[in-house]
Amino acid sequence: MNKQLIVNKLYLLPAGHGMVREYFINTDLGADNPSMVHSPLFIYLLDTTDGLILIDTGLDEVFLNNPNYYDGTPMEGLLYLYMNEEHRIPHLLKSAGYRPEDVKLVISTHFHCDHSGGHKYFKHTPVLVQKNELPMLDNEDYSPAECRIKDLNYQVIDGDYQLCDNIRLIYTPGHSPGHQSILINTADTGYILLCIDVALTEGIFKHQVPYFAVDPETAAVSLSKVQAIAEQYKATVFYGHDARQAETVKVYPEFY
Ligand SMILES: [Zn+2]
Repeated sequence: MNKQLIVNKLYLLPAGHGMVREYFINTDLGADNPSMVHSPLFIYLLDTTDGLILIDTGLDEVFLNNPNYYDGTPMEGLLYLYMNEEHRIPHLLKSAGYRPEDVKLVISTHFHCDHSGGHKYFKHTPVLVQKNELPMLDNEDYSPAECRIKDLNYQVIDGDYQLCDNIRLIYTPGHSPGHQSILINTADTGYILLCIDVALTEGIFKHQVPYFAVDPETAAVSLSKVQAIAEQYKATVFYGHDARQAETVKVYPEFY
């Protein structure tokens, strides 16, 4: 990867949505609260002077027209995922004029079901992932097997990593063991922080609303870290699954 590469365009590609218990984004409600919220899903495509970079790959086809996938499991009633044909990776990339083999690098933020479902389409592409997320490939409770593909060309990093002058991976564990966020300097918009799931919503990022995490204390440290980076770089901030923000963001073919 050329250290001086320029990020010409950052595209947001809508990749389906979820309906989840509001408790997950606001644990003050209590685990018994039945309220559900809309949870938009995006993948992010970078058009750079060094080729295409894809950040996350959305849902696997086990969810295709199958929102009741988790019925009969401990997740029943807590999470419904809505995916149709246009949210499959080949279709998402085709809609932007590309094929999976055009992608030069995949950045995998973590192996949750709504972030790594299309990894299987990148068997010959380097996939950047944090060292502490790798053990989750063997964790059957973590996400469906289809979202934990082992035989990929993983490029393992451990902690913050300056991929090039304009792209920095920020280690933000807590939501998951090896979660990472991304800071990107785009030619048009300047600095953009993709929080991914270290800040699912604006309320979490700006108002410290307590949310569900596997390791809440570590997640809080990670949140402080990205808040400081956003402030330092005066970055435009995108939250992982914010229903209100999703209605206002520019999506493909518009770009940042
Ligand atoms: Zn997640």
